[in-house]
Amino acid sequence: MRHRAGDLDRIVIVGAGRAAVAAAEELHRLGFTGAITMLGGEAHPPYHRPACSKGLLTGRQRPADAHLSFSAPVRWLPGRTAEDLDVTRQIVYTQTGEEFEYDGLIVATGAKPVSPPGWPVGEPGLHVLHDIEDAFALAGALREARRVAVVGAGFTGCEAAYVVSSLARECVIVDSNPQVMTRAVGAVTGGLVADSMRHEGVRMRLGRRVRTVSRSRRGWRLDLDDGSHVDADVVISALGERPDTSWFTARHADTGDGLLCDESLRVLGVNRVVAAGAVARWPNPWYGDAPGRCDQWIAALEQGQAAARTLLAGQRPAPAAPLQPRYWSDLFGLRIQVCGRLDGADDVEVTELRPGRRDIARGGMVAVHLRDGVARGVVAVNAPRQFTTLAREMRAAGPVARPRVSLPAAQTSHQRRLSLVG
Ligand SMILES: Cc1cc2nc3c(=O)[nH]c(=O)nc-3n(C[C@H](O)[C@H](O)[C@H](O)COP(=O)(O)OP(=O)(O)OC[C@H]3O[C@@H](n4cnc5c(N)ncnc54)[C@H](O)[C@@H]3O)c2cc1C
Repeated sequence: MRHRAGDLDRIVIVGAGRAAVAAAEELHRLGFTGAITMLGGEAHPPYHRPACSKGLLTGRQRPADAHLSFSAPVRWLPGRTAEDLDVTRQIVYTQTGEEFEYDGLIVATGAKPVSPPGWPVGEPGLHVLHDIEDAFALAGALREARRVAVVGAGFTGCEAAYVVSSLARECVIVDSNPQVMTRAVGAVTGGLVADSMRHEGVRMRLGRRVRTVSRSRRGWRLDLDDGSHVDADVVISALGERPDTSWFTARHADTGDGLLCDESLRVLGVNRVVAAGAVARWPNPWYGDAPGRCDQWIAALEQGQAAARTLLAGQRPAPAAPLQPRYWSDLFGLRIQVCGRLDGADDVEVTELRPGRRDIARGGMVAVHLRDGVARGVVAVNAPRQFTTLAREMRAAGPVARPRVSLPAAQTSHQRRLSLVG
C-alpha cells in the first residue's frame, strides 16, 4: 500500500508524546512514504511520561532510559508549539513564526496540569508533576525537603507520595475524597489502598479541601476547609489534567473538553484532521455511550495508531476506534492493575486472596465492578495472575457482546459484596 501520490503527501503531527509517536509509526507501517513532520512543544525527544512520577523522580532512571524510540522517518522538530491553525489553507502556525502546511493533520497534544486559580505554581517549593522538567525540579527540591504535602490523591499524587516516603521524608496527602485514587480504582479499592498507605506512614487528610495556599516563614502553609492547616517545605499539586486546545480555536471545532471526534477519531467540523490520546473526546464504540476522553498511556498508543489509519482512509469510511481502558501503578509495594470502566454507581465484588490479613490490599485482592450483574471493570492489587485471567476474559467478550466475568472458583475463598450507590 502506498499513500504518497494524490492528495496526501504531507502529514503534520502536533505533539510529540505517546499518541504522536504511535501515529507516526503506524503511518510508516502502513506504507505512507510522504513527509511526516512532528512538532513537539518540549525540548526533549519523545519520552515515557509515566516515568515522571516513577523512575525519573526517584533518579533510578535517566532521561535516556525513558526515551520513546521510533523507526519511522519523521522530521521531529522540538520546541515548536502550535499557536494557530488555518483550516482552509491547511497551515499550522508555531510560536517560532514558522508555518507548516499539511494535507493531513494529527492532533496529539495531550493534557496539561490544572491548578486552582491563585496558586503560585512554579514558585520555589510549589510544584506540579507533568513533564520531565517538572520531575527534575521536584527531585531537586525533595533532596532538601523535610515535610512534603501532596494535594490530590489520584494516581500521580499517590505515586509522588510513594517517592517522598521512600526518601524518608514526612508526607501528608490531602484530597476532598474520603479515599485515594477514587476515579482510577474506584472507592472500594481506593479505601483499601489508603489503609495500606497509612500503614506505610503516609499521613492522610482525606475528605478535606485546601482553601488557600500561602507562603509561611519556613515554606508553605495549606489552610484546609475544617480550619486546620498543613505546613510543608514542598507542596506537590496533583489535581488532574485538562487538554489545552486554545490554539485550536472553537470556531473550527468543539473544543469543550478536548477535541470532539467521531468514532474513528476524525475531528468534527474540520476536514483532514484527526485527534489521538488525551486530547481526543470521542464516543468510545467499546461502550457505545457519550463522547469522553481517556487519559492513559495504552489508550494514547492505541488511539495514535487508529488515528493514523483513519487519516490514510481519506474520505472513505474508516474503522471505528474502540478502546478498553487498561492502566497500572506500582506503589508502596502494591501492584495495581485496572482493566475496563469503573463508575461510582457500580456494585463491587471484592475477593481477598489472603483473608484475615489486616492490610487487605497488600495481601492481594481483586475487585470486579458490575452494572446490572455484568462486569464492566476489574481492579487487582498484588494479584497479577488473577488480573490477567479476568482482563483476558473481558477483552475476549469484546465491544459488542457485553462481558460477563466470573471469578474462578479457586480464588473465591472469601468474598465480600459491597454495594456503592451514587
Ligand atoms: C506524571 C504522570 C504519570 C503518569 N503515569 C501513568 C501511568 O502509570 N499509566 C498510565 O496509563 N498513564 C499514566 N499517565 C498518563 C499518560 O502519560 C498520558 O495518558 C499519555 O502520556 C497521553 O499521551 P498523549 O500522547 O495524548 O499526550 P502526552 O504524552 O502528554 O504528549 C503530548 C505532547 O504534546 C505537546 N504539546 C502540547 N501542546 C502542544 C502544542 N500546542 N504544540 C506542540 N506540542 C504540544 C506536549 O508538550 C507533549 O509533549 C501519567 C501522566 C503523568 C503526567
